[in-house]
Amino acid sequence: MSKVIFFSLPAYGHVNPSLPLVAEMIKRGEQVIYYSGNEFKTQIENTGAQFRSYGEKLEQLRAELDGKQGNLIFLSACFLQMCQSIVPEALNQLQEDQPDYLIYDSMAIWGKIIAQKTGLPSICSITSFAIGDGLPDPQILISLIKGLAHMKRFNTLSQQLATALQLAPIGLRDIFVGNADLNIVYTSESFQPNSQYLKGNYKFIGPSIANRNEAVDINFGSNKRIIYISLGTIFNDNLAFYNECFKAFGNTNDQVVLSVGKKINIDALQNIPSNFIVRQYVNQLEILQKASLFITHGGMNSVSESLYFGVPLIVIPMSADQPAIAKRVNALGAGLYLEKRRANWKNLKQSANLVLADESFKKNSMAIGDSFRASGGFKRGVDEIIAYKLRRMGNASLLHV
Ligand code: UDP
Repeated sequence: MSKVIFFSLPAYGHVNPSLPLVAEMIKRGEQVIYYSGNEFKTQIENTGAQFRSYGEKLEQLRAELDGKQGNLIFLSACFLQMCQSIVPEALNQLQEDQPDYLIYDSMAIWGKIIAQKTGLPSICSITSFAIGDGLPDPQILISLIKGLAHMKRFNTLSQQLATALQLAPIGLRDIFVGNADLNIVYTSESFQPNSQYLKGNYKFIGPSIANRNEAVDINFGSNKRIIYISLGTIFNDNLAFYNECFKAFGNTNDQVVLSVGKKINIDALQNIPSNFIVRQYVNQLEILQKASLFITHGGMNSVSESLYFGVPLIVIPMSADQPAIAKRVNALGAGLYLEKRRANWKNLKQSANLVLADESFKKNSMAIGDSFRASGGFKRGVDEIIAYKLRRMGNASLLHV
């Protein structure tokens, strides 16, 4: 048995794919200590891992970040601020924990710094497309440019950290590029754009999907066609969009399920059509297994989960990496890319009719789903992790801090 510390990014899209992987590691005898935000404590403990909180500082930063997560430079500066407290505390704690190796989310920059400082064998968990040494998608570059006003703060924080921790200053690239000895990417090689440049230490294991043991609180009670709509867990505070959905799909023969997120008070929504079921959060994996169409913001997990079950998509990217993901779905014929500014009821209705009428969208989604399943999922991820660990142990006994 080896001891591993997992530094996660405390967001559903980053924690969800890691949970089946961690549960499988524990099943195979590894001991996992998992750092995250308090809201994920139960899910993490359910895997058998030991939960460790990032503490108060994270909750303060979360409040500061709310609504601004799409500004990638502002977000990166907040991450550096988190490093100021997390890195020294975790390094201290590591003396006591004496882990054999580390896993860090590709955007949990503090994990990368700790890996660098300790020299421990390290694995990167990449929950979006891998970027590698190439340039990120142009759409991500555009998002970066929009946040240039925050570059000065980023540079100041980077310099302060470099001095305090005796490191080279952290660049913006370091925040978004995962490049450890072993990189676990939760998609298939064929869905990852330009995967030919990401060989060797990039392992494309496909989406990491397992039953989340969440309640199934929706009883459909009929065989109506199901359209599922969700903007995910972050960029979801969008009443205007939900009203357009009511107009586009209200009072039809379809059963529509709308997940609006925890920032929207459902009682405040007016004129919910009778064929809509509206919730703040749903059992997405359960619904996708019944749905004919998913209208999504294009978060990597939502898109992967949909394709895993062969459900075609309309992707309306809100921010961050989502335009790149929407482009990929569109290019592979698994759905349509609808720009946010064009997502009015008429275009929503027209796009939905198109995707539902043309069988090729479903066929292409199923083919991508097949490529996901063939990639091995979380079990293959753990095989790769264990093989890497053993290789490192074979070369030299595992390092301790
Ligand atoms: N999710 C869910 N129920 C909901 C909304 C979202 O289970 O009502 C889950 C979804 O299955 C996915 C994650 O939350 O695993 C959202 O991650 P994604 O990368 O799609 O988007 P983000 O929320 O990070 O923007």
